[in-house]
Amino acid sequence: MNITYLLEKSMQDHDHLCPRQILGVRIGLAGMQALGFEEPPTKKQLLVISETDGCFVDGVIAATDCTVGHRTLRVEDYGKVAVTFVDTKSGRAIRVAPQRDVRERACAFIAEEPRHYFAQMQAYQVMPEEEMLSIQEVVLNTPVEQIASRAGVRVNCDMCGEEIMNEREIIREGLTLCRACADGGYYQSTLSCTFKINLLPLTEQDSKRDEFF
Ligand SMILES: [Zn+2]
Ligand SMILES: [Zn+2]
Repeated sequence: MNITYLLEKSMQDHDHLCPRQILGVRIGLAGMQALGFEEPPTKKQLLVISETDGCFVDGVIAATDCTVGHRTLRVEDYGKVAVTFVDTKSGRAIRVAPQRDVRERACAFIAEEPRHYFAQMQAYQVMPEEEMLSIQEVVLNTPVEQIASRAGVRVNCDMCGEEIMNEREIIREGLTLCRACADGGYYQSTLSCTFKINLLPLTEQDSKRDEFF
């Protein structure tokens, strides 16, 4: 197997090649193959969910052509080197992760290289898939249609008024809400009070809602 071209592609946005990018390429190829794709399929038939960001994902992107921009790549940041590959047509999902002792296996595979980093760099390019990777059929907890959602659908949040795209709204007690207003989100306004209510648990929110409408 010659993955040089894919490694060069992965390196394009970096000034280096590293073991994680190589793992990303290998995992990307293995996931596609497990779903029966010889090469990246068209028409968004492949959705990849990476469990970390960083160099590793660039390898996955190089191998699969899935990107955030095309809405074919999601990051569920568990801080783990692993990817689930979903065939959006059939709903079949395969999770691929490195074998738990992949580093030790890589060093044993290139025993003549005493520097672990370089042994991994070499080994990850040539080790047989079954020695490197664990490949498992999985079932998604959220239907793939819901993860992919329909692009271009737009509504406005009843609380903050901002537009919500791609069916990411939450309907709660008859209100259409963005995630930030419904569940607190990842930020809060420095302009104090107006949206403070959004950060309270639902029960308190309910009892105080009248004050704000
Ligand atoms: Zn790197
Ligand atoms: Zn909102």
